[in-house]
Amino acid sequence: MDELLKQEPLAQAESQLGHDIALRAARRALEAARNVILSEAKNLARSGGRRQGSSPAARDDTEALAAQPAGNMLRGEAAQHDIGELAAEAARLAWQVVTPSLKPVVNATGVVIHTNLGRVPLGPAAIEAMQRIAGGYSSLEFELASGSRGDRQEHIQRTLQELLAVEAAVVVNNNASAVLLALTALARGKEVVVSRGQAVEIGGGFRIPDVMRRSGARLVEVGTTNRTYIADYEQALTERTAALMRVHSSNFRVIGFTHDVELAEMAELAHKRGLLLIDDLGSGSLVDTSRFGLMQEPMVQTSVAAGADVICFSGDKLLGGPQAGVVVGRKAAIDRLKRDPLMRAMRTDKVTMAALQATLLEYLKGRALETLPVWRMIGAPLDVLRSRAEAWAAHVTGAEVIDGRSAIGGGSLPEETLPTALLRLPKQGSAARQLASLRKADPPIIARIHEDAVVLDPRTVLPADEPALLAALGALS
Ligand SMILES: *Cc1c(COP(=O)(O)O)cnc(C)c1O
Repeated sequence: MDELLKQEPLAQAESQLGHDIALRAARRALEAARNVILSEAKNLARSGGRRQGSSPAARDDTEALAAQPAGNMLRGEAAQHDIGELAAEAARLAWQVVTPSLKPVVNATGVVIHTNLGRVPLGPAAIEAMQRIAGGYSSLEFELASGSRGDRQEHIQRTLQELLAVEAAVVVNNNASAVLLALTALARGKEVVVSRGQAVEIGGGFRIPDVMRRSGARLVEVGTTNRTYIADYEQALTERTAALMRVHSSNFRVIGFTHDVELAEMAELAHKRGLLLIDDLGSGSLVDTSRFGLMQEPMVQTSVAAGADVICFSGDKLLGGPQAGVVVGRKAAIDRLKRDPLMRAMRTDKVTMAALQATLLEYLKGRALETLPVWRMIGAPLDVLRSRAEAWAAHVTGAEVIDGRSAIGGGSLPEETLPTALLRLPKQGSAARQLASLRKADPPIIARIHEDAVVLDPRTVLPADEPALLAALGALS
């Protein structure tokens, strides 16, 4: 260890990052080297054992080796020879510790709302708002006119009232918390009636029956998986019923012999019986997606018009903003959410508020389709995508441009795809290995495999990332 710490790259890391980081990195590098030596020794012993035809003896050898202090081995010829390499590896590990592991990547998968890659990029207005608010103090909970304490929800509420003509709004950390908060505040100890076809799992562990149980509300399923009628809801109502709830099935679809009850019909029944109608839209959209040749993703405006009392949707799916859960609707109901003790545990921070308000303002100004990356990507014309793919192809020998499909992702519009042009890389060894080497680029390039070849979809590659992408492609060939 002392020898190792004296080696140039590690000594330098130690002087800049401190003794503890360097020491832990050196231990990790030694441990890894030890494991390599041990497994090599085991392999040797095993093959030796086979040669002698006595496998028990081989196992004894391996155990003897494993029991030996590793330091003895590292003093061997090979280890002496490798101490420089070992120090370089330790230094690399030391620097890795102080480097953020959350880093930008280039999304060349063509999946627009890619949850594993952070869902959607924010637009310039949201980024600018986050920068403006993050580095200083703000009027988060302060009324500038009166100088008295304000409400952090007021900012977004005002914008959503303007945008959707709703009475009230509240924002929490994501739509999963929005649904949990709504059920807890409005239906704890009571019953909520849901169509059997909507008692779904969204992914990432979000299952309606589980969320319902955790909220303290009792799920009453009605109808069948494929067909539910208004009479099914009506028959399930008791004096314990608090609400009817619709859940957008998001990432799966029942097709063929199906029947769903219109939201307006559910609202009418709920209100006639003095109950609430809760609508979990999932993604929700403020834009009619049919204008892009896609199916229509349920729109927030439609739910408001249909009379839903509490409407929950995500901030970072088709809205194109930061991770958040937005709840809009009737003031009396939303006020109960705001007063619930869970509210304090779910409230968003100033940076999220800033990004969300800026995103919503883009809609209010009527320019969301031009400024939000999610809509720019979904609306990208095929000829533009093709010419970008062709420009990329010029940088890689043997690459071709082929027709393909991009997905929306994020549980929005399942099965729905958009025509795109893909850059197909020439096959060199395994496609998985090519993918892995693209992931080693800086920034890492995330592509996908289509019919045994690596393909890259320009739809989700931000223009600013193109030089890095072309450099990585150039290094491949
Ligand atoms: C995505 C989704 C959620 C969860 O939203 P997050 O913002 O990811 O927490 C809840 N309900 C439905 C119907 C969804 O599609």
